Amino acid sequence: MATERILIVGLGGLGVPALWALARAGAQWKRLTIVDPDPVELSNLARQVIYRSRDTGTPKVEAAARWLVERFPEVNVERHPIALEASNAARLVAAHDFVIDATDSPAAKFLINDTCIAARTPFVYGGVVGMTGQAMTVIPGETACIRCVFETPPDDNENEIQSCREAGIVGPVAGAIGEMQAEEAIRAWRAQTPLLSGKILTYDASGPARVRIA
Ligand SMILES: [Zn+2]
Repeated sequence: MATERILIVGLGGLGVPALWALARAGAQWKRLTIVDPDPVELSNLARQVIYRSRDTGTPKVEAAARWLVERFPEVNVERHPIALEASNAARLVAAHDFVIDATDSPAAKFLINDTCIAARTPFVYGGVVGMTGQAMTVIPGETACIRCVFETPPDDNENEIQSCREAGIVGPVAGAIGEMQAEEAIRAWRAQTPLLSGKILTYDASGPARVRIA
C-alpha cells in the first residue's frame, strides 16, 4: 500500500493536530488535501492552535494552508472550503490513497466509511465524546469497517451529540487522537501496516491513564 496522497476531512479538534503531525513528518508528501466548510471562529483559537485571531472569518482550509506554507514551504496542500457530501465524496476519495476522518458528525463518518469501502481506500476513523477518544484504521477488504464495529457509532444519538457539544471536546484528548490518526497515515505512506488496522484504540482521560487497544 503506497500512500502518496492524503485527504484530511475536517480541520477542527482532530484535523488540526493531524495536519500538524503530517507536516512535521517531512517534506516527502506528494499531496495533502484538506476539506472543511467552516470559517475560523474565536472559540477555535484556544485548542486549534494553528489559527490566529486575524484568521477569524477566514475559511479554515485557507488559514491552515497559510500556516502550513509559512512553516513547511515544501508541503503541497490542496484546499477545499466545502463539506464532504454524497455528491462529492466519491470524486474526492478516488483522488487519494488514504483518508483521515477528522469530522465530528455521525453522518459524515458513515459517508467516509461507505465511500472508502467502495473505493477500496484505507482510512482512519477518529472520534471524541467528552473525555474519551477512539481511533481505528479500516483497510477495505481486510478489516472490519465502522458499520461492522459500531452498530451505531458512539456519537450517533441526539443525547450524546448534545452532551458532547455542551461539554465541548477536551483539547488534549482530541490532540492525542488526531496525532494517532496522522501516525496511521504515515505508516501507510511508508508501506507499513497501520498499527490500528481493525483495532480500536480507546483513550479515556477521565481517570488514571488509560489507553486500550482491542
Ligand atoms: Zn463493515
